[in-house]
Amino acid sequence: MVSDVSLKYAMEEHYCPHCNTRLSCCNTPPIHVGDGLGWGTDVFFICLNDECSMFVEGWKYIEEQYGKSASYRYMLLPGEKNGSPMMVASRIAFTDAAVDLEELKKGNERYQREQKARQELETCVADKNPAPAICLIIDEEANLKERQRAVKLLEEINDLSCLDAIRNHKFRHTEIGQLANLALSRMLKNSFQKECPYCAEIIKAQAKICKHCGKEMD
Ligand SMILES: [Zn+2]
Ligand SMILES: [Zn+2]
Repeated sequence: MVSDVSLKYAMEEHYCPHCNTRLSCCNTPPIHVGDGLGWGTDVFFICLNDECSMFVEGWKYIEEQYGKSASYRYMLLPGEKNGSPMMVASRIAFTDAAVDLEELKKGNERYQREQKARQELETCVADKNPAPAICLIIDEEANLKERQRAVKLLEEINDLSCLDAIRNHKFRHTEIGQLANLALSRMLKNSFQKECPYCAEIIKAQAKICKHCGKEMD
């Protein structure tokens, strides 16, 4: 689940005072690192530049001071002005924890779209507007109960312009897929129409020949 908070942080720009590289926004590791460092946050910022002077000099410093192979990277907690050195035991530590900003943005956009559709769903029948219902039906991440409700409301609106959007959607949630496709079949039947088995265009239920592709019905 993408929270607005992590997106907000991922968009923030912070720079390393040691090398001026933009800090990467990382997911907080599940275990606490360092003494008494409670994270209390989902994300933190870190300089992942291998050329950073703090990182380069850290190896030698820790070797001399503690006889261990480790270094420091500059890190900053959200909401704080000054960062601090964080000990890292390897070059690759934290490099795979960086938040994918594009993924986060996409997830957030999807979430906003779902919220908007859920609001519009309340009046979609009165507005004869199938758009929010379709949006929820084909949104695999959307709330399941809302998707089921959207199928019912779409059937009430009885607008077959949504047919392709639903027929062509690959449902990950097969139950919703079945519900939606059955609803479409009922909508066609109620309006005395059917889909041509050859070209999938909508035609009259009694048609013997498809007006779109010219094929004869069995
Ligand atoms: Zn740096
Ligand atoms: Zn046809």
